Amino acid sequence: MAIIEVKCPKCWSAHVIKYGRTSTGTQRYLCKDCKDSFLLEYTYNAYKPGTEETIIKMTANASGIRDISRVVGISTDTVIKTLKKQNVR
Ligand SMILES: [Zn+2]
Repeated sequence: MAIIEVKCPKCWSAHVIKYGRTSTGTQRYLCKDCKDSFLLEYTYNAYKPGTEETIIKMTANASGIRDISRVVGISTDTVIKTLKKQNVR
């Protein structure tokens, strides 16, 4: 039997418990330290760790919204939503 050590993708805490399943049957976990739930493998590309960082980096390198959408594999609306979330003035 293989034991997979689950760590929180945000705070890297190992203080993690099982937290039910998603509608598709994937195991959901809850971090007891930052009280945030997460999956080990996401089906939806926009929720994968690192996607938001990629969008910001590509925007800084003058990539357009449709360009980012094609590369990352998410909709243009999601790209716009992520960029609007940033507090850039
Ligand atoms: Zn955490």
